[in-house]
Amino acid sequence: MPVEAVLLAQGNELTTGLTTDTNSSWLAGRLWGLGIDVRRIITAPDRVDDLVEIVAQAADLAPIVVATGGLGPTRDDLTAEAVGRAFGRRCRLQPEALQWIEARFAAMGRPMADSNRKQACLPDGCTPLENRWGTAPGFAIDAPSGARLYFLPGVPSEMKPMFEAHVEPDLRRRADLDPPHLHTIRVLGVPESTLEELVRAVERPGLEIGFRAHAPEVQVKLRFAPGVPEAERRATVEAARQRIGWRAFGVDCGDLAEVTGHLLGERGQTLSLAESCTAGRLAAWVASVPGASAWLLEGAVVYSNAAKVRTCGVLPETLDRYGAVSEPVARQLARGIRERAGATWGIGITGIAGPGGGTPDKPVGTVHIALAGPGGVEDHRRFRFPGDRQRVQTFAAGSGLAMLYKRLVTDQK
Ligand code: ATP
Repeated sequence: MPVEAVLLAQGNELTTGLTTDTNSSWLAGRLWGLGIDVRRIITAPDRVDDLVEIVAQAADLAPIVVATGGLGPTRDDLTAEAVGRAFGRRCRLQPEALQWIEARFAAMGRPMADSNRKQACLPDGCTPLENRWGTAPGFAIDAPSGARLYFLPGVPSEMKPMFEAHVEPDLRRRADLDPPHLHTIRVLGVPESTLEELVRAVERPGLEIGFRAHAPEVQVKLRFAPGVPEAERRATVEAARQRIGWRAFGVDCGDLAEVTGHLLGERGQTLSLAESCTAGRLAAWVASVPGASAWLLEGAVVYSNAAKVRTCGVLPETLDRYGAVSEPVARQLARGIRERAGATWGIGITGIAGPGGGTPDKPVGTVHIALAGPGGVEDHRRFRFPGDRQRVQTFAAGSGLAMLYKRLVTDQK
């Protein structure tokens, strides 16, 4: 039986829709990787009576509880008080926790407000957890039920390192964990339903297969039960990858921009981009990879017809005859930017992101993408992406890069 946990996210900003509870999803992922199943995720506003009830319930539901939020200095930060009431413990000033807060303010060169002393008032019998990333200390406490509860600050940039520094090592020490092995196949351009059919053939006992859409890619998650030997895992993952084909661009790797960028880097090749409807989205994505200056030479946002002509040498008569969203224009964009930048590859993207601007011939979502390389314009595709403006742009950028990736890997073979 896997060990179970309850997650508790608290704060009015969560229950009023101002903040999305990303803490719990991050924690759920980390616990899952440790072999701990999440039984409930509870979100509650800053109301002390409710918190008392929820904390007590959580401790009865599972042997591990991880809670975030409500440790700050303000009046609505009620966690310590609620935990004290739930388990019949008094809250007292903990000298060690106070020292941490004082040292933190001293290091920042700021005077400490009286209200910050409150953050050092923690329930009797708890273990304070140092916060080196912010002011609010966390704490761990054992409930009468035997459950161990961890309380962390709500700010994600404090919560995550505190989980890694304090909670994870404590869990590994205490709980009899048997972590599963997780492998992720990253895929671009294959819908989830098709992927499901493709990988069905590798199903076997001890393997759970899940899918996660993270536009523009879909990730196939293979979770192997503890004890499945590495060689067997590798063979299964490889079989799944083979079945998906070249669109599975990697296993346990970075995103397509990283994988493609490194392929270019290894070969000493370079890239230039002429983007109309994506307006620099692909350039920004390619440039998000550290070291991208080794392969990204130039990215032009050629939104207007005049910019297409001036920057990429698109012929005005081509624009007149076929319109800006057309195969000939995409081809001229790719060829033009490649020549202008002196790059190995040029990608041209032109399309209708919507919501306006569609016609029966060229509905919203129509995008033409061309790839120019050493052999001239080597590829062109016309797409029809569904969804809103944002999705059309995201998928257009992803597909442009996928065309280059495909060319690079088929070249290799
Ligand atoms: P601090 O004293 O550092 O503010 P805290 O424990 O009091 O810590 P909260 O006041 O509850 O934290 O939340 C601070 C901020 O952290 C919130 O305004 C919100 O931006 C973010 N936050 C809180 N809870 C979550 C959550 N579950 N998911 C994502 N962000 C969150």
